[in-house]
Amino acid sequence: MHIGLINRYRQWLGLPDLEPVTLGEGNTPMVHWATWNSCRIWLKLEGCNPTGSFKDRGMTVAVSQARHAGAKAVICASTGNTAASAAAYAGRAGLKAFVVIPSGQVALAKMIQASAYGATILAIEGNFDQALQAVRTVAEQESWIALVNSVNPWRLRGQETGAYEILDDLGTMPSALVLPVGNAGNISAYFHGFRRRNEGVPQMFGIQAQGSDPLVQGRDLDNVTTIASAIRIGRPASAHLAKEAVRESHGQFHSVPDSAILHAQEELAHGGIFVEPASAAAYAGLKVLYRRNLLPTGDVVAILTGNGLKDSQTPTMWAHVEPQLVKSQHLIESIGQFMNP
Ligand SMILES: *Cc1c(COP(=O)(O)O)cnc(C)c1O
Repeated sequence: MHIGLINRYRQWLGLPDLEPVTLGEGNTPMVHWATWNSCRIWLKLEGCNPTGSFKDRGMTVAVSQARHAGAKAVICASTGNTAASAAAYAGRAGLKAFVVIPSGQVALAKMIQASAYGATILAIEGNFDQALQAVRTVAEQESWIALVNSVNPWRLRGQETGAYEILDDLGTMPSALVLPVGNAGNISAYFHGFRRRNEGVPQMFGIQAQGSDPLVQGRDLDNVTTIASAIRIGRPASAHLAKEAVRESHGQFHSVPDSAILHAQEELAHGGIFVEPASAAAYAGLKVLYRRNLLPTGDVVAILTGNGLKDSQTPTMWAHVEPQLVKSQHLIESIGQFMNP
């Protein structure tokens, strides 16, 4: 049964006595994918959350808190998944949702999803970082609008539950955690989640896309490119927290090219796990770390942050989406050709 994260982990979340806004988020599968020498590789499927990405973990807490505090609306800047999640939870809570996106840079399915949930979508000329700056200003001036980007501390608090679930499922601390990094909230939330429950932490590896890798370069970037639109961010709002997480856990930031992201997406999909490009970046990074002997032995968990259906265009770069036309009376011969090409 999915009782929702607030009911499940209330003792760790530090919330006031409020009525949860939940869609049954969390409790996502952690699949044993492979064992590479002495590394047991686990994939946590965050695309199984109600709106198809991990953003729901933070959104249940942020929207519950916003409604409790008397907000009438929520607002966010988004590369897509925050928008979909904010829209869904606002709808559940009876609040209005305003979503500000960088014009032309969000996967179509995510916009369709957010508008289906009833959000108002506003597009600005500019990139994600400028959209975030704009919504921060609005939320500062209008107290009835709650900002639900990951700069909202309740979002990060909710996202800590990913770490709680890994500890509960493994029964022990993993040796490493590998996850994609965009605005850098999630890596920071996992780090604090592990720390809140334990003495130690896993080695934290943050994976970025080449062309959009300010944390690897060590400086903010104004022009960012990658097919992985969910992590196409040049000025990560939680950069300082992410750097702390990596430094204190003896982890690293790495970047992977789009070509490796596409390969990783295909490899995962052919193994039954369909994720969006940002999530595939984590898997591409995992493989690089393994090949360079940088992974510790033991349980290594990669966070696959979003569902493949979120961005249905990118897989056309590697998958044969055009069906093969065959004559129905020749079906068996055609199948035979595919079995023995
Ligand atoms: C938001 C998002 C990320 C990046 O998370 P940050 O907290 O911004 O670093 C990665 N993958 C997906 C699918 C996302 O939606």
